[in-house]
Amino acid sequence: MKNKKLKYIFVAGGVMSGVGKGVSVSSIAKIIQWQGLKVTCVKIDPYVNVDAGTMNPTEHGEVFVLSDGLECDQDMGNYERFLGENLSRSNYLTTGSIYLDVIKKERALKYDGRCVEVVPHIPLAILAKINQAAIESQADVIIVEIGGTVGEYQNILFLEAIRILKTKKPADVVLALVSWLPYQGLGSELKTKPTQYAVRTINAVGLQPDVIIARAAFALDQKRKEKIAFNCNLKEEEIISAPDIKIIYEAPLNFERDNLGRVILKKLNLKKKYKKTDRLVWSKLIRTVKTAKAELRIGVVGKYFASGNFILSDSYISVIEAIKHAAYFFKRQPIIEWLSADDFDPAYVKTKVKENLLKLKKLDGVIVPGGFGSRAVEGKINAIRFCRENKIPFFGLCYGMQLMVIEFARHLTGLNQAQTTEIDPATPAPVIDILPEQKNNLTNQAFGATMRLGSYPAILAEKTIAAKAYGQTKISERHRHRYEVNPAHVETLTKAGLIFSGFSPDKRLMEIAELPKNKHPFFLGVQFHPEFQSYPLKPQPLFKEFIRACLKRRLIGNQK
Ligand code: GLN
Repeated sequence: MKNKKLKYIFVAGGVMSGVGKGVSVSSIAKIIQWQGLKVTCVKIDPYVNVDAGTMNPTEHGEVFVLSDGLECDQDMGNYERFLGENLSRSNYLTTGSIYLDVIKKERALKYDGRCVEVVPHIPLAILAKINQAAIESQADVIIVEIGGTVGEYQNILFLEAIRILKTKKPADVVLALVSWLPYQGLGSELKTKPTQYAVRTINAVGLQPDVIIARAAFALDQKRKEKIAFNCNLKEEEIISAPDIKIIYEAPLNFERDNLGRVILKKLNLKKKYKKTDRLVWSKLIRTVKTAKAELRIGVVGKYFASGNFILSDSYISVIEAIKHAAYFFKRQPIIEWLSADDFDPAYVKTKVKENLLKLKKLDGVIVPGGFGSRAVEGKINAIRFCRENKIPFFGLCYGMQLMVIEFARHLTGLNQAQTTEIDPATPAPVIDILPEQKNNLTNQAFGATMRLGSYPAILAEKTIAAKAYGQTKISERHRHRYEVNPAHVETLTKAGLIFSGFSPDKRLMEIAELPKNKHPFFLGVQFHPEFQSYPLKPQPLFKEFIRACLKRRLIGNQK
């Protein structure tokens, strides 16, 4: 069925990347949702990769996984967190995926023998995919983020798609440009010239922005708004100030201060069905977060941090957000400490390992997130052991859970050579082993989109930390892995005291491992990625339980 009344908002970036286009899109979506309208978001990545699954996190940030198993860009995570809704694989496309669709269609003679050309066939395929996402979600408004920055060769065909659509449906399309105003310090002013150039660049491909979202270190003054409006063919009310903020969830409220919702609705000739309470609940959350004083220190032990001289927390963005959501629930200000796993491995730092491990005691809790391959593994295992032996709350996510099981096996079951076959296929104690259905994929080098991906159900054992946290015994969580706890070792591990509190309905796959509360305040690992289903107003249950244990530790610590 065709969605006749569909309205489109395209968001492109000017000046440079990394100025918060994803948060802008999520915030516009939130504002539209506050008007009582059904909204969905699409992310377009200009890469030739068919999806984000084959990219290294230091290259491209976290790989987010949707319920239906698509591996995609981290912005999709932002959209879901802001909207509080599940998106589907129709909501994500890349240059690679579009070309693949068009080429498959051509091979299937679907173009009736015509010459298939870059223009118009690629932009038309892009528009078809966008419409499909809108139909699937029954949206009134679809917001499409164009990856990259205007002026690049890479996203030109996506801009051409907007031009074609705007020509056909001028009243139904709004183009927002997220730009950036540099500030050179005291005595200077916010500079509008780069934004003016960005607008001219997008004008050159036949497009005029309807709204400019002006990112800058602080809010725009009237003069800057006048200047941008005058030079970029817009009205002052169409220039929206987007100052730096500490809490990304504040962005929609900021945009509303400049009436972005009203401006967009007017342009699209849309009527609001205002749901006031939603916005109030959101504002209340922001107020709580801003006024929360007490801190909470969580260490994240990982390896995807370094990129030259920068720390790339983007690699673990969903983990960070999930920590925040749970901390906000308890009115705490989370402080996240990045701990490089190498600091806990004598092979990398000869003398200081003990000292570094002792520093973990100052934290309220430790997380070992997902990962791949052998690098940094021994450091992570040492950190996990220290947390277990010193009763520091520990939460292992995917690889973090697998390494927790290896640590437990090595030190408590006598399997001192315990290992995952991901690292050593010939290990004598393969406590973590490849899923049988994965073996052919590796042999055939079929790496793309072939892991165990997306949502799977799990059953929880009653009276466990996991069951208590969820408040139910049937759950569904998102996955992204090839290896699992080896069923052949489950009995040995269980006998030594590890509880498998979550498992697949056929009991074949172990989903959650934990130590009982009388042995450790919180020592729990999950084979899935709970961080992909955490929302600002609805923290993920296990993150909430972990933070609760961290707070308890803090209280006990303070009493000493
Ligand atoms: N490398 C592990 C596996 O493939 C864990 C993956 C992850 O942490 N996402 O099973």
